[in-house]
Amino acid sequence: MRKKPLKMHDDTVIVFYCPDCRGRVEIPEADFLEGEVLECYLCAAEILVMQRVPARIKLFREEDDF
Ligand SMILES: [Zn+2]
Repeated sequence: MRKKPLKMHDDTVIVFYCPDCRGRVEIPEADFLEGEVLECYLCAAEILVMQRVPARIKLFREEDDF
């Protein structure tokens, strides 16, 4: 038998600080997935989600030929 989780409010957000501009970024928990690349709405930096819980992020760079 499966229980359906009760969802009263589905507006949980993850709050983190952009590693680039230190700006406060909020993202819906549903979009905060491991391996996902998010974009900072302040500086457009790409931020990689390392871990969901606890929230760990890092600046995502494509450093192929630098
Ligand atoms: Zn930023």
